[in-house]
This record gives sequence, structure tokens and C-alpha cells, in this order.
Amino acid sequence: MKEAIIYVRVSSREQKQEGYSIPAQKKLLKEYAKANDFEIVKEFEDDETAKSAGRTGFGQMIEYIENNPKVKSILVEKTDRLYRNFKDYVTIDELGATIFLVKENEQIGQDANSHQKFMHGIKVLMAKNYIDNLSEEVKKGQKEKAENGFFPGTPPIGYKLEKIERKSRAVIDERNKNLPIKMFEYYATGLYSLLTLTAKVKEEGLMTGIYPHHSKMKVLTKASAHRILHNPFYIGDFVWNKKRYKGAHKPLISKELWNKVQAMLSRYENKSGAYKYRDNPTMFPFKRLLTCGECGRSITAEKKVKPSGKEYVYYKCTKFNTNCRQKNISGKELNRQMQESLNGLRVPAETQLSISEGLKKAFELKRGTEDVTRQNLEDRKKQLEEKMAILYDDRLNKVITPEFYQNKFAQCASEVESLDVKISLYTKANINFYVFGTKILELANNVGFLYENANPSEKQELLNFLLSNSKLKDKKMLISYKKPFDTIYQRVERCDVRNGRDSNPRPPA
Ligand SMILES: [Zn+2]
Repeated sequence: MKEAIIYVRVSSREQKQEGYSIPAQKKLLKEYAKANDFEIVKEFEDDETAKSAGRTGFGQMIEYIENNPKVKSILVEKTDRLYRNFKDYVTIDELGATIFLVKENEQIGQDANSHQKFMHGIKVLMAKNYIDNLSEEVKKGQKEKAENGFFPGTPPIGYKLEKIERKSRAVIDERNKNLPIKMFEYYATGLYSLLTLTAKVKEEGLMTGIYPHHSKMKVLTKASAHRILHNPFYIGDFVWNKKRYKGAHKPLISKELWNKVQAMLSRYENKSGAYKYRDNPTMFPFKRLLTCGECGRSITAEKKVKPSGKEYVYYKCTKFNTNCRQKNISGKELNRQMQESLNGLRVPAETQLSISEGLKKAFELKRGTEDVTRQNLEDRKKQLEEKMAILYDDRLNKVITPEFYQNKFAQCASEVESLDVKISLYTKANINFYVFGTKILELANNVGFLYENANPSEKQELLNFLLSNSKLKDKKMLISYKKPFDTIYQRVERCDVRNGRDSNPRPPA
């Protein structure tokens, strides 16, 4: 007997639907195990309707497989039981286990062929709630909040969040508002650099009691001083997702003072040149994602402020202990290259057909048997309809009694009716197949759009899911995609080559 573990999950949404309960899933999996010679050595479950959510069962399962390498079979009801997002998919994929998707009657493992893997990857894409969360709920909610003048994040020092009518709003924090006010006032005098300003503020005891009350302000560095002085939040506005919004909160600083400080800042930065920020992943979506194509060191990011006051980000090889000759590249250029590549995941109309063909093959066997069954049903229906026609003729010719006619006709009619229902189910299955195919193409088409509309931290998250071991050399990104994107990308490219088309076609406007 092969050793296997089972994993069941129930989320609040589905809990309401029958047949999705944890006991129902377990029963199904146990029956499957029995019929297929599996010995269940451990069961893992996640009940997300329970208050103490966090999906510990999934984590325990991963740990268990890592510690028990001979147990390599996971039984789950269907794809969306196992994964909630791309990250889960990658985690499971790296374990090298074989997954038995009982309801889908499929198994995915190391020896699955590339087509099975491709199809599975697509299912994961569809099971995901990552894209939904990213583009729908989170972004929509935050955008709405921003448009109504409420900053969708933690306000800067001098403000605190307060529940007003059950919504959290930024209000002036009397306990620490003096810190930013004094900083603006001192800096506007022109007597201080950022460094001497931080010293002055500390000297005056303005930092006392700030931490841990305001957890992000443990120490006042040059960079954090710069961020404070540069933040339009203090004059009642805020920047979110690269856009400036009119805030609904009260300003702490007059516009006049703020503008004066901005002028001073750009003068100061002009002299000092490069401005190094501490590690802030939200600013640098490509950080830790790339290595140098020449020396293999990691690519790091820096932010600079131009004499005009405009900020920009560039990336460069750390060149640690090497004689690497690679030059810097701007974040904007990396972004452009990434966008271009992601747009390449878009499936041009010409290649849609060839992808559909590939999908068809995966379903051929299943559909083949379906078609036979369906044909049998159609044949039976035809027979019945002929029989009904004969009955009618016989009745017209008075060969049979009205009672006999009505009785037999009703029998046939009811059988035809039930056949119609069965036939329509098979038709539906075929329609679902086409819907399925269309969705895949939609998703591939959407990745570029999602990226284009993501803020830096969302970009970083998206890229973490998409990219593996990508390199940077001579200002060119050598992008390699994770599964299943690599397959989609290769397919699109291969089809294009065959058709003799540009490998990165722009979608029709
Ligand atoms: Zn290098």
C-alpha cells in the first residue's frame, strides 16, 4: 500500500453550499484511498470559517511532507481545495509530491507530462483568488477611500488613526504633532542640513516618547527626516499609488511653509547628490529579483533626487569583490522592459487557435467518451420520435384504440423529455470547455494589464510570483518565468515564430 496524506479545506463562502463540508470531503477522499490502495497516514484540514483562521493545516502539511520524504502522495478533492494563490502552488510544486485531484480525476506529479502540468497550472490560475483580491477588492476599496480623501494606509508622525463612525480616520495626534511642526519650522530657516536638523530635534527632546508610541519612528534618520519634510500629508493632501489626492484630514503645516521647505530641500539635495534610502521594498519592485548577468552578484536599488526635486530610482550590480563593468539602469527602463515582456503573454488572435488546439487534445479522451454517450442518447431520442410518428399514423388509421394511443404516446413523450435533459447536460459540458479555454486566454491577456495598474508593492508581489532567476546584463533584462507562465510565454512565442510574426505584438487598441 502506498502511503498518502489527505488535505481538506472549507472556506466561509462555500460552507453555505452543500457537499463542501469537511466531513463530506474526508468521506470522498477515504473512499478514493480505499479503491486505489492508499494508506492514509495523516489528515490535514483548514476550516476558514473558524475564528482562529490562518490556515495552519496547510503549513503543517508542508512541514510533514518535508520531514517524511517517502510520503509523496496528497489526496485533495479538487484544485481549489489545495491552493488559495500562486504562492501555495509554487510551494507545493517545489515539494515534488504527487497530487491526486479526486473529483477532477487527475494526478499531477513529477512524471506528469508537460501538457498535464500546463493544464494544471491553468487550473491553479483559475482557482486563485490572488488576481481577484489584487484587482478587485483591495484596489477598488482603497481607490474609493483615496478618492473620498482618506489615506489608505498608516498616516505619518503627527497623526494617528481613530475610529470615527466605525471607520478609521487620520486625526492630529496631540502627543507628537510638535515633532513635524518644529522640523518644518527649523528647516525653513535654512540654518540646518537634514543631518543637523535630526540632531537639533533630538537635542530638544522632541523624539522623547515617540517610540514605541509611533512604531515606525524608532530613530530619526536623515532619510526619515527627508520623508517627513517631503510629505504633502502635512498640508492636507496625500500621495497614493503615484497619484496625489486631496485629503479629508486637517493640515498641520501651512502651504506657504511647506513650499518654502520644498525649495530648501531641492537646493540641499542638489549639493549632496545621491540620496540613499533604507531598504523599502515598496519603492523598488525589482529588488532581490535580479542577479547580474556578468558577475552573478545581486542587483540592488537606489533612489536619487534630481536638481528639479524629481525622484527617480535606479538599479545596479552590487559588484561585491568583483571587477564587474555593468552600468546602472533606471527603474523606469526596467519597468518598460518588464511591461513589454508581460504584454508578450497576451495571446494574439492568430495564436488563439493553436492554443485552443492544444487544450482540445487534453480533453480529447474525456470528450470522446462523452460524445459516444451523447450520440447514444440522440439515437434513442430519434427512435422514440419515429415510434411516436408511427403511433400517430396507427391512430389515424384506427389500428389502435384512443386509450392505447394516449398511454403509449405519453410514455414516449416523458422519455424524450428526460433524454432532452441528459443531452443538454452534455452540451453544457462542451460549452464549459470552450468557456474554460476562453478564460485561459483572458488570464494570459490580463497579466500585463494587472502589472500596468499595480502600485510598486503590488508589482513586487506579482513579479515574485511570475519570475524566477532573472538576470540583468548590458541594460537588458533576461526574464525567465515561473510555471505555468513559462509555458504560456513559450507557446505564444513559438506560435508567433511559426506564423512569422513579431514576438511581442501589441494588442489592438
Ligand atoms: Zn555584476
